[in-house]
Amino acid sequence: MTEKKSSSFTVIGAGRSGVGISKLLASKGNQVLLYDENSDDKLKYLDKDGLVKHGVELCLGKWDERILRNNVIVKSPGVPPSSEVIVMARSLGIKVVSEIEAAYEYCPCPIIAVTGTNGKTTTTELTGEIFRSAGIDTKVCGNVGLAFSEIIDDLHEDSIVVLEVSSYQLNDIENFKPAVGVMMNITPDHIDWHGSFENYLTAKMRIAENMDEESLLVVNHDDKVLRDSVEKLSIAKSYFGLTEKTFDNCEQGAYEKEGKMFYFNKSKSFNEEIMETRDINIRGKHNLYNSLAAAISARSFGIRNEIISSTLKAFPGVEHRIEFTRELNGVKFFNDSKATNVESMIVALEAFEGNLILIMGGREKGNDYSSVNDLVKNRVKTIVAVGESRENIVRHFGSIVRVIEATSMEDAVAKAYGASIPGDNVLLSPACKSFDMFESYEHRGEVFKKIVNSLK
Ligand code: ADP
Repeated sequence: MTEKKSSSFTVIGAGRSGVGISKLLASKGNQVLLYDENSDDKLKYLDKDGLVKHGVELCLGKWDERILRNNVIVKSPGVPPSSEVIVMARSLGIKVVSEIEAAYEYCPCPIIAVTGTNGKTTTTELTGEIFRSAGIDTKVCGNVGLAFSEIIDDLHEDSIVVLEVSSYQLNDIENFKPAVGVMMNITPDHIDWHGSFENYLTAKMRIAENMDEESLLVVNHDDKVLRDSVEKLSIAKSYFGLTEKTFDNCEQGAYEKEGKMFYFNKSKSFNEEIMETRDINIRGKHNLYNSLAAAISARSFGIRNEIISSTLKAFPGVEHRIEFTRELNGVKFFNDSKATNVESMIVALEAFEGNLILIMGGREKGNDYSSVNDLVKNRVKTIVAVGESRENIVRHFGSIVRVIEATSMEDAVAKAYGASIPGDNVLLSPACKSFDMFESYEHRGEVFKKIVNSLK
């Protein structure tokens, strides 16, 4: 790392990453002002004493001319590019960067950055777990849990950072360069924020912008949009996919064939079996993608197949994502509260062969359930509908499967358990947002688990 010249920064947004980057920048000798349009009482991550101790100036709940006086603006991921302060800053020619860009300047070790529409958190956590199992000093951060800027001071040259990056963060990078960039998939999402699918794709593609001969781009070969988008990039690429086509069409990567996971590199003439896919602990086809991607990142750092397979056998998954909660009298309970839309519910239903009692419902956002009709018909025995959308659910699914209404999560769990027999799976996969009854999907999942764990 070269010595950085100090500069003056305004950090916009006092959430976790905004607070983290303010402290980091100030501790490195920069002048920092932290601005948020909300006042302190609304800011749950604001650590006023810590910030003041680091010499960060605070500007909360009100506009102040000092906000646009600094050389660089660090924009928190939640602040839209169209917000007045950002538009004003750009028109004044002030440089705008994201938190990962600002923190990157101080990162002494290689970064594995994971992006995509779905599977980021799971792949990030899983990759981190494999590296940890290999005895490497590993820090996992990004969208969930710690912000990148919060871990910088704990890193050494031989550490590894596994970083979950959103398109919001990638949108405002300049020098950010991961050693390994992982692109899980891309489907229309966050279009409101980015303005169009093209803009969203462009933001995601920026993960590769500064990558060179020494970096590796890991790409989902089954995702045509991604495959086509990276084709022309002249950097090393490794692909993952669920068919032998990945092997046939690519130089290096990982794939599934007949229930086995393989890792190959044609120029090095190997095609090795890593493990049987049925031994992977996290369920579903989507998690096979996540496992293949994590395996490629691990192999690119020389981690042995045995470590990859033993970690995949044990990795319990991430909280609220088809999370196994409990088995009671032969009935298994799973918490998939993170499924806040229909697509995620489909992914969860596909991860089970059948015998499902499905608890769903909550706040709908223009949900169209017709795409799940066949899955529900084939895999679900009973739906327990709860929350604001329960009448809609009865109306839509009532002619396909038995639907029971519940008035609370407690009632829903009791009715689901009552409708089950040994061998059934009770799955909370709401396909709806949680805000009708809960503070967040995490809160909903926690309430569900607490009720399930208290069942007698
Ligand atoms: P993200 O961090 O991108 O939101 P998560 O790992 O938290 O991703 O998973 C969120 C949801 O996305 C899961 O509950 C599941 O429904 C779905 N999902 C996870 N991995 C994948 C994947 N590889 N492809 C498609 N959907 C996935």
